Parts: sequence; structure tokens; C-alpha cells
Amino acid sequence: MDEENILITKILRKENLQEAADILLRGDTLIFPTETVYGLGARFDSDEALQKVFRAKGRPADNPLILHVANASWVEQLAQDIPPQAFELMEAFWPGPLSLVLKKKDHVSSLISAGLSSVAVRCPSHELAHQLIQAVGLPVAAPSANPSGRPSPTREIDVMEMVGKVAGILLGGDCEVGLESTVLDLSTDVPLVLRPGAVTTQQLRRFLPDVRRYEGDPEGAPSPGLRHRHYAPDAQVTMLRGSDRALKTFIASAPKTSCFLLPSRLDIAFDGVRTIAFTPQGLLEEAAARLYALLRDADKAGMKEIYIAEFPLEGIGEALMDRVLRAAQYNILTLEEI
Ligand code: AMP
Ligand code: MG
Repeated sequence: MDEENILITKILRKENLQEAADILLRGDTLIFPTETVYGLGARFDSDEALQKVFRAKGRPADNPLILHVANASWVEQLAQDIPPQAFELMEAFWPGPLSLVLKKKDHVSSLISAGLSSVAVRCPSHELAHQLIQAVGLPVAAPSANPSGRPSPTREIDVMEMVGKVAGILLGGDCEVGLESTVLDLSTDVPLVLRPGAVTTQQLRRFLPDVRRYEGDPEGAPSPGLRHRHYAPDAQVTMLRGSDRALKTFIASAPKTSCFLLPSRLDIAFDGVRTIAFTPQGLLEEAAARLYALLRDADKAGMKEIYIAEFPLEGIGEALMDRVLRAAQYNILTLEEI
């Protein structure tokens, strides 16, 4: 970013909600909390404001933005030919971490859709996000509030790194889910999960028996965001596959510059930041909520390698392993039993 583009950033809390809404209304950028990750928002109807989002993130223009709405009734202003199942899904999962890709109406800026004929919409359940969108009275276009390609921010300390790049930051504590929303494409004949999230493919199947997960080549991905390197810290990430015993043997001989994200059942002695029990209560939700924070902390501690154990694919494990594999650039180390 050019020197002259450094902004004065207002740090706001829930007491200053109207001030936060005013920042968006005057066409500036605001970081705000949601239940998934922090978002970097702009009013949806100003190309000038939208361009500031891409600039602040260094986001490629071929990666579209999600429109955040206050309730399902706003969607008809933004999308057309909405299939009946979309309304059932909004009823079942909104407010919540499910983004629906629908055919867009013409007035929705091509900056939001990145030139596609569709638009993604979501209604966040986070209280502050909801109040903010209500106060703005317009959909808020917002990608995750990380510099492009980096892990998404899930804590106050993470978004403070964006000071100077946005006009305001509304702080709201830790994000409960910690992984980005499920993105479900309903704009074509076959419903496709473009990005897994806390709303699982299995949950969606009850409403959409033929829903599939997009498993193809990221280069040809229908969701442009899937093409880009994502969620990656500076350290080299590797996913570890193997028995508890094999994992313990591997960890015992690993260099000091490596750290481990593990399920707590492994019961491995802590060595400063080097070994991190991922799930104090043994829950996948905990692992998901902490993943990005741990990737960021490992970088800050100067770790060179981050090894993450394989977690089960059930529930949010599907989304967790998706992000881990992307951060690892699909690098998996299978440990043999000795
Ligand atoms: P982010 O908000 O940073 O998590 O990024 C938004 C995600 O939603 C990206 O992966 C986009 O590619 C995806 N997305 C947004 N709009 C669309 C759309 N119209 N079609 C397909 N994917 C979309
Ligand atoms: Mg993102």
C-alpha cells in the first residue's frame, strides 16, 4: 500500500455501533465481527467503496464478495429466479454460517460478483453484525478481513493488524465458529457445496438430496476464491496421518522449529508453544474455532513447520480438514508404524 494511502483507523466497540454504521454509510471500509470470522465490509451499492475493500485486502478482482443481509426478506432485492429450496434453507439455517449463491439481479455491482452472473448472500447470526447491518439499512459486502491469502482473523488481536488499511474496526471478541461460511451454489441445476463450513453437506442433504461437494481441480473451480492460495501462514504446514503411537514417536524427534496442533487425547507434554493440544474438551468445534489463531501464533513464535493431525471428517471436521489441507497445499505425511 502506498504511504499516502495509510488511513486513520477508528477502533470501536458495541457502544459505538452507530458510528460504525456511519463509516459504512459514508462509503468507507469497516472491519466487523461475525460468528464465522471477522469481515471487511463496504456498502454494496458504491463501487468506490467496494474498490476500497479489494485495495485493503490486496484481493484479486476475480474473487467475489459475499453480501451480508439482516434477514431473508432482503434477498429478493439482490437475486432473481430464486429456487424454492433456497427459502427453505434460509428458514432452516439463517441467521447462520451458510452463504447461498443465487442468480444476481442486474443492479448488483460486477465488483461484488467478480463478473459472474451470480451473487453470494448470507445473514450472520452474530449479534453485533446483525445490529450493524440493521443500522446501515443496506446489504454489506464483506470478504474475510485478512490480507489476501493469509489465515482469516478470528480474534481482536488479529484484526488490529489491519490498522491503517481500513477506516474503522468494530471489535467484538473471538469468533465462535472460527472458519468461513459454507458456500452453497444454487445458481445452476445441481446444488454444489463450493466451500464446506459449519453447516455441513450432510445437513444440507436433508433439503437437497442431490447436493454434491465440489471436488474438482481448484484451477477450474466455479468459486473463484477456491483457485487462490489460501489460509496459509509463513511456516510450512503439513497434515499428519498415522496412529497415536506413530505421531508421538515423530513428535519426540522433531526439530525445535516445528510445532504441532494435536487432539488432546495424545496427552503429549507441552514444550512452550511447540506442542499445542488443539481440543481441550476433545471437540471438533473447538479445533475449528482455534485453527487460524494457532496458525497465526505459530508464525509469531517463529516456527518453521506446523504439523496438524488428521481430524475426523464428521460435522465441522469436513470444513476443518478442507482448510488444513489448503494451508498445507495438500501436503500429507503418512507415518508408518515402527
Ligand atoms: P470470503 O468472504 O473471503 O470468505 O470469500 C468469499 C467466498 O465466497 C470466496 O471463496 C468466493 O469465491 C465465494 N463466492 C462469493 N460469491 C460467489 C459467487 N457468486 N459464486 C461463487 N462463489 C462465490
Ligand atoms: Mg476469505
